[in-house]
Amino acid sequence: MRLTPLPAFSDNYIWLLDEDDARLVVDPGDAAPVLAACEADGRAPLAILLTHHHDDHVGGVPALLARWPGLPVYGPADPRIAGVDHPVGDGDRVGIGPWRFDVLAVPGHTVSHIAFHGSGLLFCGDTLFSLGCGRLFEGTPRDMLGSLDRLAALPAQTLVCCGHEYTLANAAFARVVDPDNPALRRRQEEAIAMRDRGLPTLPTTLGSERDGNPFLRIDVPAVRAAVAAHAPGAADDRIEAFAGLRRWKDGFRA
Ligand code: ZN
Ligand code: FE
Repeated sequence: MRLTPLPAFSDNYIWLLDEDDARLVVDPGDAAPVLAACEADGRAPLAILLTHHHDDHVGGVPALLARWPGLPVYGPADPRIAGVDHPVGDGDRVGIGPWRFDVLAVPGHTVSHIAFHGSGLLFCGDTLFSLGCGRLFEGTPRDMLGSLDRLAALPAQTLVCCGHEYTLANAAFARVVDPDNPALRRRQEEAIAMRDRGLPTLPTTLGSERDGNPFLRIDVPAVRAAVAAHAPGAADDRIEAFAGLRRWKDGFRA
């Protein structure tokens, strides 16, 4: 199995997944990097997976369908996404070539956001990032926390394939929230070294995120205390604490 994050726009990743001669494309916001990669190695995708309707994740679909007419497209049942001929939702199981994925509804960033989990991989779009989570454009804090709880319960070795290279900015914020967490410090150092070498910091593992990502650590006393100190009164209940942490990040400039 080979997993390739194709950089797109300023900080997106389009994921290519290869096994023998089977290939999947996840969240092609732009067709050009996908067409270039497929041209370069003479391989064509079996299908496209989409996590949510934002243009930086779906914008390349029409051009890819023009290049490969009839290519199956699996995505949320949401009229805002053109080209989905296999609408999928929570509890569905998708089989493509050698892969099997379970579909999880993960509302929060958008109301119809889904994730694909299977074969040791998680494609989670803009729900979970390394050391962060997506902004709440459409869902509530309760929605997003419920989604993150579900993702956090997956096996520790799961490779987490996120939609953006946000790790360094997320790390700067996470270190303010949780300064005495050695796992977080190590992950930040590792991410800085990877970016210095021009490498993606992704995929990350769920175990690493459970250890370092403050949005998965809302029940840890140190994180709860940091939120309470920043926004007094906001930390009594875990949804309020999560909402306070998300708002804090929204206003944070490193
Ligand atoms: Zn998005
Ligand atoms: Fe995005």
